[in-house]
Amino acid sequence: MSITGGCHCGAIRYRTERQPLNHALCHCTDCRRHAGAPMVGWTMYPETAVTVTKGHPKVYESSTHGRRHFCADCGTGLFYSNAEILPGIIDVQSATYDDPDAVPAQVHIQVAERIGWMELAHELPSFERYPPQ
Ligand SMILES: [Zn+2]
Ligand SMILES: [Zn+2]
Repeated sequence: MSITGGCHCGAIRYRTERQPLNHALCHCTDCRRHAGAPMVGWTMYPETAVTVTKGHPKVYESSTHGRRHFCADCGTGLFYSNAEILPGIIDVQSATYDDPDAVPAQVHIQVAERIGWMELAHELPSFERYPPQ
């Protein structure tokens, strides 16, 4: 199977021909602040399995060895690598897949840093679009 994806503006596109090793929803502070979102979905691949087919992500040193790869034009976060902790691995932000339903999430990680109200977020009232005015 192929999985394709990219950033919001389309300047960066990627492709892989295999299933990820795992899919985790990360609640750590670094992911939250870099994404500006309550959590980030990550699918892990051998780095040789993911090819950037268009554009060149900018790389931000978010920690001593952590590298966050994003589109410098539109700001979308795409990849994470860490040569020290995860050699040979690349994490891909699963919400940037063209079909984000392609690989279901499996676990929540780093919940020690989770925003308090996120634990019960799935119990909040839900609306197909917006609440009635
Ligand atoms: Zn972009
Ligand atoms: Zn994280």
